[in-house]
Amino acid sequence: MAPEKELIHDLSFTELEDRLVSMGEPKYRAAQIWTALYKQFVGDANEMTALPKALRAELTQTFSFQALTPVRSIQSKNGQTTKTLFSLHDGALIETVLMMYNDRRTICISTQVGCGLGCHFCATGQMGLTRNLSSGEITAQVLYFAKYLAAMDDRVTNVVMMGMGEPFQNYEPVMEAVERLNDPEAFGLGARRITISTVGLVPEIKRFADAETQVNLAISLHTVDDDLRTQMIPINNKYPVASVLEACRYYVKKTNRRITFEYALIDGVNDSIDDAAALARYLKGLLCHVNLIPLNPTKQYDRPGSPSERVSAFGNTLETFKIPCTTRLRRGLEINAGCGQLAAEGDTRDSSPRMI
Ligand code: SAH
Ligand code: SF4
Repeated sequence: MAPEKELIHDLSFTELEDRLVSMGEPKYRAAQIWTALYKQFVGDANEMTALPKALRAELTQTFSFQALTPVRSIQSKNGQTTKTLFSLHDGALIETVLMMYNDRRTICISTQVGCGLGCHFCATGQMGLTRNLSSGEITAQVLYFAKYLAAMDDRVTNVVMMGMGEPFQNYEPVMEAVERLNDPEAFGLGARRITISTVGLVPEIKRFADAETQVNLAISLHTVDDDLRTQMIPINNKYPVASVLEACRYYVKKTNRRITFEYALIDGVNDSIDDAAALARYLKGLLCHVNLIPLNPTKQYDRPGSPSERVSAFGNTLETFKIPCTTRLRRGLEINAGCGQLAAEGDTRDSSPRMI
């Protein structure tokens, strides 16, 4: 179903200028609207008080200002993690997570409705792909939480594309959203505070390398054993581990930026000392960092995450091989903050954590 009206957040600055000119308005109105949208998080033309009333009415008639309708939010007991389920203009559901930890205010955003890559352990993968998000729908997730934080005199410090979907299967809209988030005249978040996570799509990793941005790249590796990786991540059949790592080396050479590898530890599957040593051998000499996280069990993949002793042992082994790594806490597990787990439940209201 096509949206009745075009989403204003889908326009670039020049497109907005062109539209205003064709509406008989002076170009400088674009800057006023841009500031209202991206710096003041205004979600209604009628609240754009710098604009004449007639223009506000015309904008309301022409554009949609609300990409997202919140359906429900849940919050972890300690209040550090909030996850919101949004419905889009066509009723599709996506989710976005806010993590408040120390001084960081990280927004984990979705890039697609579902995902077509079918990784077995992933709640989003278990759903399949419904459609891509537009650049405006991607950006609006950050704006929603920026507004929420601004009400508490706080602000977004980091954005990670680790919600639903594979960002590199929706390359252009994702990069347009990045541009909008980064543009000092728009949202103005430093590129180094934005991270794109990919399952390892080789052509897009190279394309991203060639774009030479300062945006961080994370690769969901999870194992260096091709047979096991193909079982977990079917696209590994097309882009096996060696090809992914070759693309990563290209990226590092091209950008001189450190690459992050995500590694979800699954009890008895990919978490032995030998697995750690094999990973270390593959990553030797590459400017990188490994994030270890115990797997979140999902409905259709109920193997448990590794116990904490094994996570530590795995990390220690990597360190003996001089591979820098961090062990991520299981933050948000109690609210199913794992990728896609809230949307997988659909629009129900029976989840046990505190609803807000
Ligand atoms: N499609 C991209 C980004 C979205 S997934 C990607 O795959 O990288 C974000 C991260 O969540 C990925 O590292 C993914 O492997 C991880 N993930 C998915 N399901 C998980 C689960 N059940 N437990 C832990 N991590 C999971
Ligand atoms: Fe898609 Fe990433 Fe989930 Fe795999 S892990 S199914 S690529 S969202």
